[in-house]
Amino acid sequence: MLTKECPKCYSTKVTKSGIIKERQRFYCKKCNYYFTVSKIGKEIDSYFVIKALQLHLEGISYREIERILGVSHVSVMNWVKKYHVKAPDRPEYHPSYKILNHKELSLLMSDPDYIKGSGMLITELGDKFMIIKWERFRD
Ligand SMILES: [Zn+2]
Repeated sequence: MLTKECPKCYSTKVTKSGIIKERQRFYCKKCNYYFTVSKIGKEIDSYFVIKALQLHLEGISYREIERILGVSHVSVMNWVKKYHVKAPDRPEYHPSYKILNHKELSLLMSDPDYIKGSGMLITELGDKFMIIKWERFRD
């Protein structure tokens, strides 16, 4: 369970104090401060929706997105439909990607052979990083 912290005095002596405009309101017993946060479920949802759509646009398949993000491919398909995201058709293009921690990422970035000759995108993925490589001119 997550412990809420007062943004003002960092006390954890906070109690729920109603919901205002879809947001949970908290009350700090120590400094008498009221504050709100987005509902946690909602935050996680939008995080995964954005990441999933991003990966979809990068040419990564629904099944791969399911494996990478741990959300079902059906959800991803529904989000693609809901937000009208249309990835261009590119049957020959498939990006290569790696999921790395910060140290591995730094090592890879210092390798000139790896970064040479291709565009790439690095996106945060939980506590790791995902690197997606663009290799348009492979022939
Ligand atoms: Zn406080």
